[in-house]
Amino acid sequence: MDIFEHTILCKKCGKEMERATVIRNGFQLRALVCPNGHDKIIHPKDEEEYKKFKDLREKEFKVKMRIVGNSYAVSIPKEIVSFMQDQEKLMNDMVKLCFEESGRLSLTFDKFLEKEK
Ligand SMILES: [Zn+2]
Repeated sequence: MDIFEHTILCKKCGKEMERATVIRNGFQLRALVCPNGHDKIIHPKDEEEYKKFKDLREKEFKVKMRIVGNSYAVSIPKEIVSFMQDQEKLMNDMVKLCFEESGRLSLTFDKFLEKEK
């Protein structure tokens, strides 16, 4: 059973903690918060996932460009893809590619866009 299924009381005021969602860097974490704002508990599983995400974010991957027909292709490291799948935000084939700024491209996955709406 998930620990968040249990009733957890605030240590300061004894009020029942309420479920909430905390968003850090586009990352959704389940949380319990005191209605009086005393305390906030992040779901340990989500905290762990967030840590993994932060570690991945700090990593720099060197990938090669290849020519495929009239386009160039780069490969997305498996580590990143499997992390996204762990997050159950399975991607489909469509990603949005933007020339964000000079020297920088960004990829946005559809599933993530839907979640942000
Ligand atoms: Zn409280």
